[in-house]
Amino acid sequence: MNIAIDGPAGAGKSTIAKRIAKELGYIYVDTGAMYRAMALYFIRIGVSSDDGEAISSKCKDADISIEYRNGEQVVLLNGEDVTGMLRTEEVGNMASATSVNGDVRKKLVELQQKLAATTDVVMDGRDIGTVVLPNAEVKVYLTASSAVRAKRRYDELVAKGETPDIDKIEADIIERDNRDMNREISPLKQAEDATLIDSSYMSIDEVVNAVIDLTKR
Ligand code: C5P
Repeated sequence: MNIAIDGPAGAGKSTIAKRIAKELGYIYVDTGAMYRAMALYFIRIGVSSDDGEAISSKCKDADISIEYRNGEQVVLLNGEDVTGMLRTEEVGNMASATSVNGDVRKKLVELQQKLAATTDVVMDGRDIGTVVLPNAEVKVYLTASSAVRAKRRYDELVAKGETPDIDKIEADIIERDNRDMNREISPLKQAEDATLIDSSYMSIDEVVNAVIDLTKR
C-alpha cells in the first residue's frame, strides 16, 4: 500500500505525512530531503546551480541513502548523517535549482521506487503521484495559498529564535513554486487521479483525517 502526497513548498506535506505514517504504521519517506542532501553536496564541492554539466557528472559521486532510527528518517550523504543540515533556505533554494536536472532526478527516483517496493509507505514530494509511484493506491495533492504557507514558515522560524522577513519568505515560495511547476522534467502538478486538499483553512487533524478516510475507502 502506497500513499503519495504532492504539493508546493510549505503546504504541510511532511507534517501530515509523518502523522499518517504513525497512525497507519507505514514508513514515511521525505523525498525533498534527498534532493536537499544532493544540493548540500553541490554546495560543499562548489558546483554552481546553473552548471548543468557539472551537476550531471558530480551527482554520480554523491551516495545518498536513507535509514530509519527510532522511526525517524535519517539521510546519509556518502555515509555521513546530514539530516540536521538540510532544512535551511540556502539548501532548499539549491535543491529547487538543481532538481531540474534529469540525472539527479533519475538517481533519486530509483532510490525512492526501491524504498516503496518493499514496504507500505507514505511518500511526499512533487512528482510522487505522477512519476515515482504512478500506481499508488492513494494520491493527494496538498496545497494552500502562498500567503498562508509563508505565514507558517515565518512562525516556524520565529519559534527557532530567528527574525525573518515574511514578504521575502513569500517571494521565495512563489519563485520556488514557479520553478517546480514549470520545469521540463517531472514538473509539480496534480495527478489526474489525485484528490485535491487545500489546507489554507484546515487544521492538521482535519487534513490527516481526510487522508486516512481516503485510504480506508
Ligand atoms: O519538499 P522540500 O522543500 O524539502 O523540497 C526541496 C526541493 O526539492 C523542492 O523545491 C523541489 O524542487 C525538489 N523536489 C523535487 N521532487 C521531489 C521532492 C523535492 O523536485 N519529489
